[in-house]
Amino acid sequence: MSEHQPYIFFFPLMAQGHMLPTINMAKLFSSRGIKATLITTHRHAAMFNKTIEKSLRSGFPISVRAIRFPAAEVGLPEGFESLDDVTTEDTLNKFSAGVAMLREPTEELIRECRPDCLVSDLFLPWTTDSAAKFGIPRLCFHGSSSFNSSVAENIKRYKPYKEVASESDPFFLPDFPHQIKLTRAQIPESLIKEDQDQHQTDFGKMIQKISDSVAGCYGVIVNSFYELESDYVNYNKETFGIRAWNIGPLFLQIDGEESEPSIDKHDCLKWLDSRETNSVVFVCFGSLSHFTAAQLHEIAKGLESSGQDFIWVVRKCIDEENREKWFPENFEERIKGKGLIVTGWAPQVLILQHEAVGAFVTHCGWNSVLEGVCSGLPMVTCPLFADQFFNEKLLTDVLKIGVSAGAHKNSWISSDAVKDEALAKAIEKVMVDEEAVEMRNRAKELSGLAKKAVENGGSSYLAFWALVEELRAYGTTRKQE
Ligand code: UDP
Repeated sequence: MSEHQPYIFFFPLMAQGHMLPTINMAKLFSSRGIKATLITTHRHAAMFNKTIEKSLRSGFPISVRAIRFPAAEVGLPEGFESLDDVTTEDTLNKFSAGVAMLREPTEELIRECRPDCLVSDLFLPWTTDSAAKFGIPRLCFHGSSSFNSSVAENIKRYKPYKEVASESDPFFLPDFPHQIKLTRAQIPESLIKEDQDQHQTDFGKMIQKISDSVAGCYGVIVNSFYELESDYVNYNKETFGIRAWNIGPLFLQIDGEESEPSIDKHDCLKWLDSRETNSVVFVCFGSLSHFTAAQLHEIAKGLESSGQDFIWVVRKCIDEENREKWFPENFEERIKGKGLIVTGWAPQVLILQHEAVGAFVTHCGWNSVLEGVCSGLPMVTCPLFADQFFNEKLLTDVLKIGVSAGAHKNSWISSDAVKDEALAKAIEKVMVDEEAVEMRNRAKELSGLAKKAVENGGSSYLAFWALVEELRAYGTTRKQE
């Protein structure tokens, strides 16, 4: 074994679903003696510093460096430096332009700190060139599943959506390990738009650069474990030649501090303590979802008519001002004792791991899917946009631990993704129907496999050390040149 210890920069896109797993990844590397520096913009630095406190107390080599987000230069208000703040196409484009401008300060930091490797987000495509400029490898962290990469690459290669007449006509993915049916409406626009249409906007430009930047980088780190999607780890490697290391689930491997929830953690857990095992549905749509009041009404009606107890996290409604319009009349009164509404941020992982929780209604963001799997829960799938429709298929058609609530259109703002009756029916299927027991057993089995994967000698543990060993060898060779 060579002596050289790699020093790694970790740079996530500024969005909760990207920052949280990247922080966990940096903590994992540092807990195993690899020096790690997290890069973020000023607004997020305090949160980053707080979440690494425990690692620092344990003496792990980890630090945070903040760079300035050029909000004013791109026409955004000061402090607008997170994808979570984006509500319109205009702010999405301005935010993307600002992200592209982070290249210079990032390269200044690389020049100053001289890391041996840059692990950066899929949505920071220019980092492949930045790393190349300094002769270091860039590893891409795409934050999603191997299955998602397989579907996306398959769609890019075969364009199966071209065979159907309308956006709601179904088609199957050709030459694919499982039979996966999709419609054009479920695919993210960026995968369908022809290249020449893409680069009209700053967001389009960013998306357009992603493929080349991934193809040109050293490899991909995946927050998943081999046993969960082995067919797709193999498929990506054999069909598309993707070099990948599946080293997750990351959150299982570190003693993490969660982001500060907007509900008292203990109140929430006490509420769950008073419930029977497997009797509560946890409902959460991640950090980026935007609903109209009409959509919130549908969800409320569906939850009520399912008859199940629930915790529902309501984060964002585009009718922000009129809170009285969010729920049907007297809904909050009627559900007292049966349902708990968390407005803001919930301690999701703690809730999912509580034995009173029996199922998870999820938007299928990859972190949520993994957290559901690791908690051994069957899921109701309500995808909204981006890769979420693909993750849904992994749950419903491959792993068979999910029931679809029937969402049909990939859209940033959700007005009619979920209908009350379909939601109630799907909840019944995962909570009370006969198949619920089978699904729960399968989910529990996967949860056991996840824990094994990260233990000493498990697949993710071995993949982690294989990667470190490669980086060590790479660094040693570089220093000898
Ligand atoms: N999360 C949380 N509390 C909330 C909402 C989300 O802790 O109220 C966490 C959740 O546990 C997950 C992440 O935020 O780790 C969301 O990531 P995901 O990939 O599921 O979805 P995204 O927010 O990126 O759409």
